[in-house]
Amino acid sequence: MNINELRKDFPILSQKIYGHNLVYLDNAATTQKPQCVLDSVMKFYTVYNSNIHRGVHYLSEKATEIYENARLKVKDFINAKSRSEIIFTKGSTEAINTLAYSFSLKYIKPGDELIISEMEHHSNIVPWQLYAQNKGAVIKVLPFDNNGELLLDKLESLITEKTKIICVTFVSNTLGTVNDIEKIIKKAHEHNIPVLVDAAQAIQHLKIDVQRLDCDFLALSGHKIYAETGIGILYGKEKYLEELPPYQGGGDMIKNVSFEKTTYAELPLKFEAGTSNFVGAGSLHTALDYVDRIGIENISQHEKQLLDYATNKVEEIGGITIYGRAKNKVSVLSFNVDGAHNYDVGMILDKLGIAVRTGQHCTEPIMTHFSIPGTVRASFALYNTFEEVDRLVEGIKRAKKMLVG
Ligand code: PLP
Repeated sequence: MNINELRKDFPILSQKIYGHNLVYLDNAATTQKPQCVLDSVMKFYTVYNSNIHRGVHYLSEKATEIYENARLKVKDFINAKSRSEIIFTKGSTEAINTLAYSFSLKYIKPGDELIISEMEHHSNIVPWQLYAQNKGAVIKVLPFDNNGELLLDKLESLITEKTKIICVTFVSNTLGTVNDIEKIIKKAHEHNIPVLVDAAQAIQHLKIDVQRLDCDFLALSGHKIYAETGIGILYGKEKYLEELPPYQGGGDMIKNVSFEKTTYAELPLKFEAGTSNFVGAGSLHTALDYVDRIGIENISQHEKQLLDYATNKVEEIGGITIYGRAKNKVSVLSFNVDGAHNYDVGMILDKLGIAVRTGQHCTEPIMTHFSIPGTVRASFALYNTFEEVDRLVEGIKRAKKMLVG
């Protein structure tokens, strides 16, 4: 994997910010887009633009083909059994909201229970509060230890006859922890409980095979894996998706409509009301092809080397607290400069052309766990280099000097 060659695929990376070469380390928030993805979007609008599914004319058929081929690409990428299991959404958040709404409507009764981990992104907490808790369900929390590892031996004691679903992230966007999803799924299935895996931070780093994992639902966002914003996936086992009611009503998701009664379209369209982001779907196809050409294993290996290098270098500075010490981690490095506010550190790094994220990263319960207002988060992608890590480290040293002396 020749990083300097790969970087040329990403035009945004070659710009200067405040006179410095951009160092983009905010990849857990969103990834940059390779030229092939940008080209695919441009080509769609200049050559194929037309609404999908409802047209008999050439362009509409072409657009439908692009959209449905993207679905097949996703199916193969995560090794789903059938295209019916792949629902396009606008991202992980909408995927989880879709499931939380439909699942709660169908299966949740007052007094039922859900298990959610302490390290979830808000988008895997709030939808369950909106739909399940509001139907009278109780949310139980699977905690993590100070290394940022889930206390899996506590899972059994949280499960009861009333547990209806377990919702857990594959990878923590704040701590970088790769959770032992397989173990959780196995335990859940011993009790016939389905599991939702939030793969928003996993899809770009790890090989995901939904059949091997045997997860029941999985959510992901295209923009985290080099595709456009506004496209994502809800994967669900067909047996559940068949039973679940639709989330939204509108065009495309129906078979017949009358004022007395409406029947719904077959899967997956039952869950795709209205005009979908078909351009985004095409961009996701292109992005997944791009990742396949490089090889997800090569990407994770490179990112792991960056993470190890960065962790050592940042530790060497001294006076830095790192959050997330799990044995199995992806390329997310959360830290604070002792005695300085994360926001001030982020601002100084920004002035040096280094883009990191600061704050709670939509994981307030993690901040509560550590009793901190937030962290500085550097997150690495396939195009980051060791020189960029060096720039980060120099930046942190400078910020430390300015803020704590
Ligand atoms: N889950 C996790 C773990 C995330 O990190 C994110 C976004 O950062 C989401 C869910 C939500 O993704 P999106 O905003 O693309 O819907």
